[in-house]
Amino acid sequence: MNNSSNTWQQALAEAFTDLDSLCHYLQLDPKKLQVLKEYQQFPLKVPRDFANLMTVGDPNDPLLRQVLPLSQELIEQPGFSADPVGDLKALATEGVVHKYQGRLLLISTGACAIHCRYCFRRNFPYGEQQLASSKIQQAIDYIQSRPEITEVILSGGDPLLLNDEKLANLVKALNKIPQLQRIRIHTRIPVVLPSRITPDLLAVFSESRCSIIVVLHSNHPNELSAQVETACQNLKANRVNLLNQSVLLKGINDNAEILHQLSERLFALGVLPYYLHQLDKAKGTAHFEVDDNDALELLEALKQTLPGYLVPKLVREQSGAPYKHNLY
Ligand code: SF4
Repeated sequence: MNNSSNTWQQALAEAFTDLDSLCHYLQLDPKKLQVLKEYQQFPLKVPRDFANLMTVGDPNDPLLRQVLPLSQELIEQPGFSADPVGDLKALATEGVVHKYQGRLLLISTGACAIHCRYCFRRNFPYGEQQLASSKIQQAIDYIQSRPEITEVILSGGDPLLLNDEKLANLVKALNKIPQLQRIRIHTRIPVVLPSRITPDLLAVFSESRCSIIVVLHSNHPNELSAQVETACQNLKANRVNLLNQSVLLKGINDNAEILHQLSERLFALGVLPYYLHQLDKAKGTAHFEVDDNDALELLEALKQTLPGYLVPKLVREQSGAPYKHNLY
């Protein structure tokens, strides 16, 4: 393990996993926050780099709200379920989710660097359904036998939490599939744990025959620090195409000015805004939901103030549908 590996793994080991410690760090009283006491089923996890971007003493900080377990998670709401986008129905073989023509998704790990309370896979049975090393060849065979598949999406969990050796082996195996043109990586890591973007990781990308697309997941301009900017610059310098997807979240980014600033800041980092997702209705996330009419009003405001290439597509994923639906 070289020094850069040490740095990010050490940062991961030092992440907050305990609510009292996080509140103490932010000088907040957990008794005043209506927190969820039994949060171990979906544990708290917040890297210190991310916590450092929160405003001390502000219980409504938009970054804190994304990771704070609240008692509202226990409220049952009709239409909210454990598998809101039909991942389990679309499992083709272990760790392989095949929903759309021409592309499929690998659940490359169940681990994440941060636990986002609105996560659509917060109830996913990763134990049984992530792509174990022993099942990679089975997944490769599945892709190889379908010449129409030209793109593979690495998802999770967060694929960049795989160590360099595992990720390099997976990318090399995918590169050997003749028809494959693109490897798309959906990750929150460059935003929440930028020290993970190491020279060894960049070498895995720059040596890939298939084009690499990294789809970041940033929801708020306050997340995009100078360290995140450096991580993005290094990715771009190594032939990685950068896009961003956000989730529209009540009380966090359901504000035209915030979304405008997010698009502007992303572009300054060399990242194009790609999707603004309506919330996937995962059990325990109803308090984040933004009404469709309000979402469309926000989109209209963005269209009026930003060039078209900085306006993300407002979309919703529907279980069983052949693609994501635009809301407009
Ligand atoms: S990083 Fe992605 S997969 Fe992990 S908890 Fe957050 S939203 Fe879910």
